[in-house]
Amino acid sequence: MIDELKLRAARAIDDRRERLVALSQKIHDHPELGFAEHQSVGWLVEECQHLGWQTTAGICELPTAWRADIPASAGGPTLAFLAEYDALPEIGHACGHNLMAIAPIGAAIGLEAALGEVQGRALVLGTPAEEGGGGKQFMTERGALAGVDAAFLVHPSAHSTVKTQALACEHYEIEFHGFAAHAAASPEKGLNALNAMILSFNHIDALRQHIKPSARIHGIITHGGDKANIVPEHTSAEFIIRAADNAYLDELMAKVRNCFEAGALATGCRFEWHQISPRYETINSNPTLSQLYFEAMQELGVDCPLEADRGFGSTDMGNVSWHVPAIQPMFSIVDHVANHTREFTAAAGSERAYEATLQTAKAMAFTAIDLLRRPELLDQARREFQEAKASLRDTSNE
Ligand SMILES: [Zn+2]
Ligand SMILES: [Zn+2]
Repeated sequence: MIDELKLRAARAIDDRRERLVALSQKIHDHPELGFAEHQSVGWLVEECQHLGWQTTAGICELPTAWRADIPASAGGPTLAFLAEYDALPEIGHACGHNLMAIAPIGAAIGLEAALGEVQGRALVLGTPAEEGGGGKQFMTERGALAGVDAAFLVHPSAHSTVKTQALACEHYEIEFHGFAAHAAASPEKGLNALNAMILSFNHIDALRQHIKPSARIHGIITHGGDKANIVPEHTSAEFIIRAADNAYLDELMAKVRNCFEAGALATGCRFEWHQISPRYETINSNPTLSQLYFEAMQELGVDCPLEADRGFGSTDMGNVSWHVPAIQPMFSIVDHVANHTREFTAAAGSERAYEATLQTAKAMAFTAIDLLRRPELLDQARREFQEAKASLRDTSNE
């Protein structure tokens, strides 16, 4: 049975449905890459202003980071609903971040309708560049979460689950510098930066056979040379290394680095690697927030298992989740289709996806109402958060 206050929240979200769906569709149809989501941010901020919320764009020294403060009731805890809106090159909104752009606005609309009956503050935080830019880490470092008691984000997928699993990861640009020479007339004078790269890929393929099954190493060549008759003097690649915990990620990075150094040594080339974005942490799914969201989904009649039976990718929401109590449930918008495919892009603009997104907005609003109604639950969430951080410190000292 959904109580009166939650019904009020759900109705407020439904009343805004048409506008939210149109906004999401517009973002879907105009995909923008991380840190360049100018148009999307303009539309999102405009919508929040239309709702009468106080907005600030370009926070934390990031032009496409923003926040909207929902007019507060007197005091109480602060709950943050996070938005993402960056897309992928060539394949557009293949991770469905156009849905993650509107879900938090819907959640805040729902909570706003209940404020007065419950005491608290709500804000929407627009977080840029999740796909490899680490926007949330920069925002966390620069104080965007100051005063926030709990943070919520939802992510579309083929599967629903409350407690998302995410791998820690690091993202690197690799470069080899060789020496150009005529590839036919004087190959002996060249140092081949493409060979260095190809050897490195092969070393990593060999390494991959002997790593933990949950770990991932994957990359692409972004520059392979300039012309077939010139010994390649410069090549570059992009690599992501992922592991289920920080300690194993450190170990793996040292091994991957050896693979590149071996490529450099074999060819006489010089090797450089630059970290592209901050480390993405694993997700610390807060048990109390997870349980409340799970119950909210049950109240809404949506099947969303509490525990994940599979691993997912990585997310900078992980970094947020070690800073404040947080969850990032996944919600199903399609069957048997993986994220980062063109099929997922199509799914992210479907009626089913919008319906599922608004359900997650309601579930977040219900969770927030429960938290504000029962302050002891927020205390419990804080305790669990501190315990999780303490146990992380203990394992990293082993
Ligand atoms: Zn993605
Ligand atoms: Zn994503």
